[in-house]
Amino acid sequence: MRVLVVEDEAALRGQIAARLREEGFAVEEAPDGREALYMGNELPVDAAIVDLGLPGLDGIEVIRRWREAGRGFPVLILTARGRWQDKVEGLEAGADDYLAKPFHMEELLARLRALLRRSAGWASPVIRCGPVELDPASHEVRVDGAPVELTAFEFRLLRYLMLHAGEVVSKSELSEHLYEEDADRDSNVIEVLVARLRRKLDPERRLEPIETLRGRGYRFRLERAGA
Ligand code: CA
Repeated sequence: MRVLVVEDEAALRGQIAARLREEGFAVEEAPDGREALYMGNELPVDAAIVDLGLPGLDGIEVIRRWREAGRGFPVLILTARGRWQDKVEGLEAGADDYLAKPFHMEELLARLRALLRRSAGWASPVIRCGPVELDPASHEVRVDGAPVELTAFEFRLLRYLMLHAGEVVSKSELSEHLYEEDADRDSNVIEVLVARLRRKLDPERRLEPIETLRGRGYRFRLERAGA
């Protein structure tokens, strides 16, 4: 999942970005409103965290213009403590949730995870498809209740596929959403990772959780449970 972090205070922006990368998100950073507007319009962003007080173009205006342009990704705004008007204005411009500064990084992460799963149509915090269970908060993955050890990147790939369970996801979509803009991308890597993920989730090949659709991509085919 790719997350855009819009914040003009470099130290705070860096702190948020570092924590999000630890959580397995690909992160893009914008220091001002103009750049944020451009990145949100041009990059395949899954969610954005937007500080409202920005040089150039303020956060409210950035969100309003994204929405006018039809960009529907979830937006979490950062507001100054006590400025309830900012929260109302932000939500009315098209933001989905807010957090007052100063905040705890864990709260920011919890709100971001909730926005990401809800925008993919999931209500429950744990993602379940058939016997496969993925917890976006603890990063635990289980099949029939038994834990499965995944590398950080395998987890990122599975999280994306499971959040979009039932949908066809092309290799280029996967690499766009799993890597940052300046990353070196190689679609063969995705193939290798999908093969590894299949072996780890389904060593006896009885579930076939990830279907390959020739020329189109992949689909996590086990039925969503509790969504
Ligand atoms: Ca600011």
